[in-house]
Amino acid sequence: MSQKILVLPGDGIGPEIVAEAVKVLQRLQADFGLQIELEYGLVGGSAYDQHGSPLPQDTLDKAKAADAILLGAVGAPQYEHLDIAVRPEKGLLGLRSELQLFANLRPAMLYPQLAAASSLKPEIVSGLDIMIVRELTGGIYFGQPRGVRILENGERQGFNTLIYSESEVERIGRVAFDIARKRGKRVCSVDKANVLECTELWREVMSKVAKDYPDVELSHMYVDNAAMQLVKAPKQFDVIVTTNMFGDILSDAAAMLTGSIGMLPSASLDANAKGMYEPIHGSAPDIAGQGIANPLATLLSVSMMLRYSLNHAAMADKIDQAVTAVLDQGLRTADIHSANTEKVSTAQMGDAVVAAL
Ligand code: NAD
Repeated sequence: MSQKILVLPGDGIGPEIVAEAVKVLQRLQADFGLQIELEYGLVGGSAYDQHGSPLPQDTLDKAKAADAILLGAVGAPQYEHLDIAVRPEKGLLGLRSELQLFANLRPAMLYPQLAAASSLKPEIVSGLDIMIVRELTGGIYFGQPRGVRILENGERQGFNTLIYSESEVERIGRVAFDIARKRGKRVCSVDKANVLECTELWREVMSKVAKDYPDVELSHMYVDNAAMQLVKAPKQFDVIVTTNMFGDILSDAAAMLTGSIGMLPSASLDANAKGMYEPIHGSAPDIAGQGIANPLATLLSVSMMLRYSLNHAAMADKIDQAVTAVLDQGLRTADIHSANTEKVSTAQMGDAVVAAL
């Protein structure tokens, strides 16, 4: 039975990079027996232009019916004056909350061929391969009560609530342990259990979940130490699982260890491993329409989709190997270009990956 993929190109470079991802999917379909059906929809600024909403009902209905969603990027300067409720980014947030995508997977990988792009020494980051599993729909970003109140003395006081129920911790924990089983079999749970009761509970629940995964090693680390270790010895990590806010911060720091924003994919999954897959970068309006954007983060997002939602790990491996092969051939888009490599366009990079498949 064929699996349904909703393709949402979005804004800026979104359509350019997604076009390359579609080429790869079509090649897998034609030559490797991948049974998929592609549907298209509008999201972000392009959806606002046509429907007055960054997340039209039609897109949401298609997203709910799909087995997985591939998204390019949303946002552009011309939408920045709009009311926050209809800005392009609302389309993305709406999809995440409507589909209950609570598990955000952010790999930070550094291909040895690109080690010079990192701000850290090549020997510290070369071959880096971390998976950060961030809780995405709970914690302090959503906890109630929240707001700004006026105290009796007239001073204003801002407040937010860090809140996690056991079931929320358990479900993100299981996602992390399941992923670790397919990788290096190590999970590091990051918290601030020495100061925050909420994450003391987080630590307790993670230890309980670990009992169901005797083949996976669990360690705990305070978030301040984790930040330090990420820049000191990042290769010690396999899978990191953490709260919404800690994950927000640590995943950006980890991404930057690799130095190349155009190389990093991401996934956001629900309880049944249905997911939305997208590069971590934005719509890059400064280079949109020039045909020079790096499509590899989007192609690697397709690989994650095949691995985590569509259960085609062997095809995911094929894409990963094809990306390695084109880097070995010395092909580079402008963002990762350096001396002794060949500068190629978005489409040439996509074609090279298709050829390497
Ligand atoms: P950005 O990630 O779009 O761009 C940052 C820098 O990286 C730019 O110089 C850009 O040219 C470069 N870059 C990004 N992706 C690239 C690629 N694939 N190849 C080569 N270079 C690439 O971030 P920004 O400039 O802060 O934001 C631009 C717009 O994107 C804003 O409207 C923002 O709200 C939106 N945004 C969307 C998402 C998303 O859709 N998930 C994420 C972040 C930002």
